[in-house]
Amino acid sequence: MNYSKIINEQRKFFNTNQTKELSFRIEQLKKLKKLLKEKESDFYEAIYKDFKKSEFDTYAAEISFIYDEINTAIKKLPKWAKRKRNRTNMANLPAKSYTITEPLGVCLVIGAWNYPYQLSLVPMITAIAAGNTVILKPSEIPSATSIVMTSLINDNFPSKFLCIVEGGIPETTALLKEKFDKIFFTGSTVVGKIVYQAAAKHLTPVTLELGGKSPAIITKDINIKETAKRIVWSKFLNAGQTCIAPDYILVEKEIEIDLLKALKEQITTFDYSFENDNYVQIINTKNFNRLASLIDKDKTYCGGVINASTRFISPTILTNVSLDNTIMKDEIFGPILPVISYSNLDEIISKIKARPKPLSLYIFTKNKTIRDKILHEISFGGGAINDAVMHITNNYLAFGGVGESGIGSYHGEAGFKDFSHFKSILQKPFGFEPNFKYPPYTKKKLDWIRKILGN
Ligand code: NAD
Repeated sequence: MNYSKIINEQRKFFNTNQTKELSFRIEQLKKLKKLLKEKESDFYEAIYKDFKKSEFDTYAAEISFIYDEINTAIKKLPKWAKRKRNRTNMANLPAKSYTITEPLGVCLVIGAWNYPYQLSLVPMITAIAAGNTVILKPSEIPSATSIVMTSLINDNFPSKFLCIVEGGIPETTALLKEKFDKIFFTGSTVVGKIVYQAAAKHLTPVTLELGGKSPAIITKDINIKETAKRIVWSKFLNAGQTCIAPDYILVEKEIEIDLLKALKEQITTFDYSFENDNYVQIINTKNFNRLASLIDKDKTYCGGVINASTRFISPTILTNVSLDNTIMKDEIFGPILPVISYSNLDEIISKIKARPKPLSLYIFTKNKTIRDKILHEISFGGGAINDAVMHITNNYLAFGGVGESGIGSYHGEAGFKDFSHFKSILQKPFGFEPNFKYPPYTKKKLDWIRKILGN
């Protein structure tokens, strides 16, 4: 496996400056949207093969994101890419200062499997909008989706501009040996560290969209029914295989029993079963076995039904879990929800702070003081108040982690910035030359400088 030829071709193409033209970028985005519209049904078929994901789920949580990102980029690109004026400091007057936005060059995008279309194509779209060339390496785990994306891109775009490389660890390892101008990675924290180390060898800037355990904190004053509805939907969407799903619940002791009852009722109402399209499979046997081993029968409040042959795990709620149980070590990434009660908010805040910084955090409360205290004291990527997961659908909000949950962010303008360099320029006219900065240095000149700089 040697990818240097294709990277060299992309670099050569990038250096022709064609991708810097806004008209070129917009044309490519429109072409991509048209192709996607034509092939949408192939995308639904492929993902159904991979993990029984329905058209509804796929449209709502994948395809609509892709269209939204394309539409936003097409509409906003002229504004985002425009040269921006900056103020000029006194010492440089008369002069103009401005910032030019430029693409970074040849980008590598590495996708994760859980939302295989969205997590691969949205960063690719963003990179195109910013004027780059892209090599995309989708996850190899959902193989049918990888094939359908590869044929959409590789059959319709020249590889000197856009190219999908399929494969797993060996292919990604070979790609990571090459020099890129940007690497955008979505996946686990463990692999994120491998990517970061490889990028460091070439001083390549990275965006790392990683995972972690995202808590939902619930206080006693909430509307229990509505909270349960939002929690159940956000947790069991994609059978819990969502990086920003609430990983575990911390609920104020007084309402624990009522919340558990409401969660259970809501699971029944949503009718999650293998036979209907409301629920998906676990992606593979490895993950199925990992998740099955996390279900402690003695702590199971509801669910816990598993079927290895269909890779089905019913929505499962665990109670009497303590923060140092096995299930509280790593990200669950499946349909198992531990509910832990608390009576001392400060204690749980310090326990969350002692863990890696979460990708998301959710607060369900009507209490403004508690809300602001949590927002102020705990560092996390992003989140929602009285809801979960939905913040990702608003591409006016930057999306990304912090600390162990990631570096950098994207969606909408944040993504455009992530794939751009901002070149700062000071432009001076001829004809006016204050001499006090030049030698020979004198006391008088020093006094002048002090006066101008104001110190
Ligand atoms: P993963 O890290 O196993 O794989 C991600 C990508 O890295 C894949 O394309 C894979 O082929 C490649 N890869 C795997 N092992 C590698 C290695 N040793 N060397 C080089 N490349 C390697 O992650 P995953 O299982 O696909 O996804 C699940 C994880 O991703 C979870 O932790 C989840 O929270 C996280 N995630 C984060 C986001 C986000 O936006 N922050 C979104 C989705 C998933």
